[in-house]
Amino acid sequence: MKTATGTTIISNGQLFDGTGAPPVPDAALVIENGRIAYAGPATAAPTVPSDARRIDARGGTIMPGLVEAHYHGTYFNVEKLEDLDIKYPVEFVSIQASVNCKLALECGYTAARSGGCLFNCDVWLKTAIENDLIPGPRLVASGREICSAGGLMDWNPEFRKIGMDGLVFCINGVEDARKAVRALVKDGVEWVKTYPTGDAAWPDQNDHHTLCMTLEEMHAVVQTAHNHKLKVTGHCRATEGIKNALRAGYDSIEHGTFIDDEGLDLLLKRDVPVVPGLQFELASVRRGPEFGLSQKVIDGHQETLEGGAESCRKILKAGGRLGMGGDYGFGWNPHGDYAKELTFFVNYVGLDPLTVLKCATKTGAEIMGRSADFGTLEKGKLADVLVVGGDVVKNIALLEDRANILAVMQGGVLKAGKLAPRIEVPLPKRGG
Ligand SMILES: [Zn+2]
Repeated sequence: MKTATGTTIISNGQLFDGTGAPPVPDAALVIENGRIAYAGPATAAPTVPSDARRIDARGGTIMPGLVEAHYHGTYFNVEKLEDLDIKYPVEFVSIQASVNCKLALECGYTAARSGGCLFNCDVWLKTAIENDLIPGPRLVASGREICSAGGLMDWNPEFRKIGMDGLVFCINGVEDARKAVRALVKDGVEWVKTYPTGDAAWPDQNDHHTLCMTLEEMHAVVQTAHNHKLKVTGHCRATEGIKNALRAGYDSIEHGTFIDDEGLDLLLKRDVPVVPGLQFELASVRRGPEFGLSQKVIDGHQETLEGGAESCRKILKAGGRLGMGGDYGFGWNPHGDYAKELTFFVNYVGLDPLTVLKCATKTGAEIMGRSADFGTLEKGKLADVLVVGGDVVKNIALLEDRANILAVMQGGVLKAGKLAPRIEVPLPKRGG
């Protein structure tokens, strides 16, 4: 991804630097050749050349670009589990996913970690974004997911003879587990996404207290992945599933819904981050009926919502780390709603906005393994910057509305937001 050349100064706003420190009023951010040269009070800012680009933050907030820590680029308009797999051909899924990536950037998300995708699309989306072919967040890719046969992600009945070839490697035993990871290694993913547990979405056979992989299979995934320098994460709701994942050596936990004290100890011992993805549960409960979700499914989401909120409070209180993101692309939780996650954690879980903003920036970059490059506005880091109209710390919900996004920068290049230059596509001349 190209970085900007020359100098840019952003001023006339408060600065939230991503570390969780209180914002600096009347601040300035100076960018040189795409990297941050200064972030702090405007009065102490270095003088910049007369031809420096100037961005007026209009009294708003200057902050790091947001990081979506559980992004499904290839999910769109999902209403049933079946919609997640081969509903459309890879050609259409790719186009739709590139549209989703553009949208994420326009929403202020300058980076995202894939939580799994159809057909290895995210590896190629990442390639296209890194080569400036399409706009989108800097990605780390996961490719196809791994689940044991008969588990949450293996829903196509045998008579259909179609397996789960779009989205999932369905495994039986440790040899299959190793084989699936080895295939992912060749495909170029950085994170392996697995399904240690079920979910409220499938209440009869694979609910949120069901285990969907054996500890031996999870061990095999981790050993093979780590040998090839890949990281491993998993959809973990059930108490025992969370502990199995931590015992197997997982590098992050998705959801971590029903964590107990023993699980919390295991989590803290290696400082493993958790990405709760909980706004999805609230949206499922509130909007489920209009999409035909059964009462049984909605009740399961309600239990997940309450258990998940409690676990998040426990994890943060004990000194653990949370990333913000999760499962956008469903009918009731569509792409573009990403920042609702942040509002949810303030309003529903009761966290303070500075903590939530830190989770959505610094911790997100840490989970991606890119904290040396971005996630905070500190000297030397890439200028992945978001400028928002208004005081985001006072009202975090401002981030939900794209009309409030003034500037979205990656490496100092202004890519989206009200202040971004509009690229006019000339209409073809009509004959005659
Ligand atoms: Zn997910």
